[in-house]
Amino acid sequence: MRQATLRPSPINPTVDFSADGVQHGFLRLPYSRDDSAWGSVMIPLTVVKNGGGPTALLTGGNHGDEYEGPIALFDLARGLKAEDVTGRVIIVPAMNYPAFLAGTRTSPIDKGNMNRSFPGAPDGTVTQKIADYFQRTLLPLADIVLDFHSGGKTLDFLPFCAAHILPDKAQETKAFDLVSAFGAPWSMKMLEIDAVGMYDTAAEEMGKVFITTELGGGGTATARSAAIAKTGVANVLRAAGILKGTVEGGETTWLNMPDGNCFCFAEDGGLIEPFVDLGDAVKSGQIVARVYPVGRTGADPLDVRAKMDGILVARHFPGLVKSGDCVSVLATIVTK
Ligand SMILES: [Zn+2]
Repeated sequence: MRQATLRPSPINPTVDFSADGVQHGFLRLPYSRDDSAWGSVMIPLTVVKNGGGPTALLTGGNHGDEYEGPIALFDLARGLKAEDVTGRVIIVPAMNYPAFLAGTRTSPIDKGNMNRSFPGAPDGTVTQKIADYFQRTLLPLADIVLDFHSGGKTLDFLPFCAAHILPDKAQETKAFDLVSAFGAPWSMKMLEIDAVGMYDTAAEEMGKVFITTELGGGGTATARSAAIAKTGVANVLRAAGILKGTVEGGETTWLNMPDGNCFCFAEDGGLIEPFVDLGDAVKSGQIVARVYPVGRTGADPLDVRAKMDGILVARHFPGLVKSGDCVSVLATIVTK
């Protein structure tokens, strides 16, 4: 058994997860380094608990350059009162805190991509130690898990909340119901390029009701995308019965990523010219983007063509593309 052979986590919380009330504190992770011999990484968190009831675990900054989650969660942590809550809310606005402070997808300490580091390791790198703490301490406390993502510096998305198709259909239904409650303009039945090592997978394998988002991108947030995140997290807590009140419904359109044909990857690098924008309808065979070789003039560009009918839900964000980059993601409109 993996669990039995692992040493305890080196992370110490400065809060008591079982205590009622509002606690603002830290996950303190010892990190000895040149500028601080006995130093620590201090990951901010808030716990709000009021009696018995479900626990929601809310995370942003799993990738350090995605901002809607941290905005919504720093805001929620500041305003949530114990008397508003039935049960418990655990808020970690910036899960990969070193990456968040650096404004990068992965950690500047160990290049760790949090969402490829699960189940983590208590004797591993800083990123692996954080993952292990979520795997063995925080996820087991949770009934529902909301992990915010956006496109970061290299992708841009139509704003959607998402869950995965799961083998356990009761678990899947609960997750899709929570996606509906979130109330983003778009809701996604999401397919992953490679689900190994993801926080999503760890939570789902533990039987948790797990939902995620992709709310924009380009390494920034907009007024619209931040508002979607703030409304969405409150709606999720209302739907779970943790906050009072009814879900503030906006219309949502359901999307599906049916298979790997939804992804287009660049087969050469260069200057990218978008041929369609987010939300545009695309037919199979249609050009979604053109890649110009930039080493010389007069060379033919490489056209990237859709492999299915659908609408554009994500696109490569920077103006230059490298071989292997994800250029576009398509999805089909479906009924929930
Ligand atoms: Zn992300």
